[in-house]
Amino acid sequence: MRILAGLFALIFWLGCGTMNANQRQGSGARDPYLEARKRMVQEQIRARGVKDPRVLAAMEKVPRHEFVPVRFRADAYADQPLPIGMGQTISQPYIVAYMTEQLKLNGDEKVLEVGTGSGYQAAVLAELAREVYTIEIIPELGRRAAETLKRLGYQNVHVRIGDGYRGWPEKAPFDAIIITAAPDHIPEPLIEQLKEGGRMILPVGDVYQELVLVTKTRKGLRKERKIPVRFVPMTGEVAKHPPGEKTDQSAPPQEP
Ligand code: SAM
Repeated sequence: MRILAGLFALIFWLGCGTMNANQRQGSGARDPYLEARKRMVQEQIRARGVKDPRVLAAMEKVPRHEFVPVRFRADAYADQPLPIGMGQTISQPYIVAYMTEQLKLNGDEKVLEVGTGSGYQAAVLAELAREVYTIEIIPELGRRAAETLKRLGYQNVHVRIGDGYRGWPEKAPFDAIIITAAPDHIPEPLIEQLKEGGRMILPVGDVYQELVLVTKTRKGLRKERKIPVRFVPMTGEVAKHPPGEKTDQSAPPQEP
């Protein structure tokens, strides 16, 4: 009888384990959004030129509907950003995929994100890198994102509430950095926290913004202007820096 009870307990435990794994993967027969997510990847992301199979797989796996407010769930896989409260947004899926692809992650990286928002971009990164450190300046959003990520089983994402302008020095250097709110210049402390050989992608600008890819090479910084975008502005310390302190986009590469 005791053996039978033990067997039942084991089957129950295994059942719970399987359910968590399915939730973590964001896929499985019980996911009513799987088809919508596959269509999103085909029609909005692959069709626009994102090719990295790992990025496409991550976008197909992460349950975006879990990161948007319940009243917007029906639009979770639409080709647009969505409000997440406190005047902030979750970025358009294509932009999340595009920025992620630019980082060229292979699975072994330590990544810093500034602008946690809903936690969705962090979850996509968590599928593709070893550890993700993400900073959110609005406490309510940071707390909510941390809860969502925990509920979905993302153990390799670490959320900090605060101003990300100065990065996360205790965890630096990072193999890759992504900023998902727009500063009007590239924050110097974040350049310092990027490893040699590392890549940073961020929107830069005010009314007109574009994505800039910064690569730190042995010879200095390489900056490539990519596509026009529209992000919410970076807030906090960024505004305190006078123009003279700002990184000159046209400066010659700096010797490390
Ligand atoms: N990556 C997010 C996602 O997947 O939902 C979307 C980010 S939303 C476009 C930009 C976020 O950056 C907002 O939540 C905003 O509060 C945050 N933010 C703005 N300035 C910041 C700063 N200095 N440090 C940290 N977060 C900041």
